[in-house]
Amino acid sequence: MPRDLLTEISIPACHGRAVEVRKGQVLRIELTEGKQVGDCAFFNLHDFKEWFHVGQTWATNVMLGHGTAKRFKYFYSKPPRDNVMFTVLEDTCGNHFGSCGGRCSGGLYKLRDGLTDHRHCQGNLEEALAPWGVTGDDIGDCFNVFMNVEVHGDGGFTIHPPTADKGDYIDLLAEMDILAGVSACPREGAPVNDGVPKAMGLKIFAGA
Ligand SMILES: [Zn+2]
Repeated sequence: MPRDLLTEISIPACHGRAVEVRKGQVLRIELTEGKQVGDCAFFNLHDFKEWFHVGQTWATNVMLGHGTAKRFKYFYSKPPRDNVMFTVLEDTCGNHFGSCGGRCSGGLYKLRDGLTDHRHCQGNLEEALAPWGVTGDDIGDCFNVFMNVEVHGDGGFTIHPPTADKGDYIDLLAEMDILAGVSACPREGAPVNDGVPKAMGLKIFAGA
């Protein structure tokens, strides 16, 4: 039976948005304009010290045979909690970057590009999460949704345009009440967003 759509949010290009997702509801992150990556931070809505941990999630999915760094089945919070935060119900892409946890930041744009006034995912998440009292220092790992990264044997990597495209989405069943922040990455002129930053979409569906 289809779930009822409760909320629909468009994340403007180069900006971030945050939403509360209650246990049993489904958060959909989708590509509404084309190839674009998002940097996502997830918290226990009632205790921001519990947040999604990318390394623990990667390791646990692989060790239990549930998924890989490109396609998780379960999203876990950082130790010592180790709780399942989301279960993936559907993933039309299955090619994300789940082995890093990083995001673009003011420091990265300055070091890499010599820019001091460029928007960045860290700042987008801080803006989006500020109404809940979450500060920049509170933001832990990010899930780099739709980010297509080739990791090399020597530990290096190459970023390619997303294989995901307009219409692709990932559906995340909340296993606890969650605060989710998602930044539509503002990087332009590079493969990561296929050259041009775009809007993204969020939807929340009711519990089954
Ligand atoms: Zn970014």
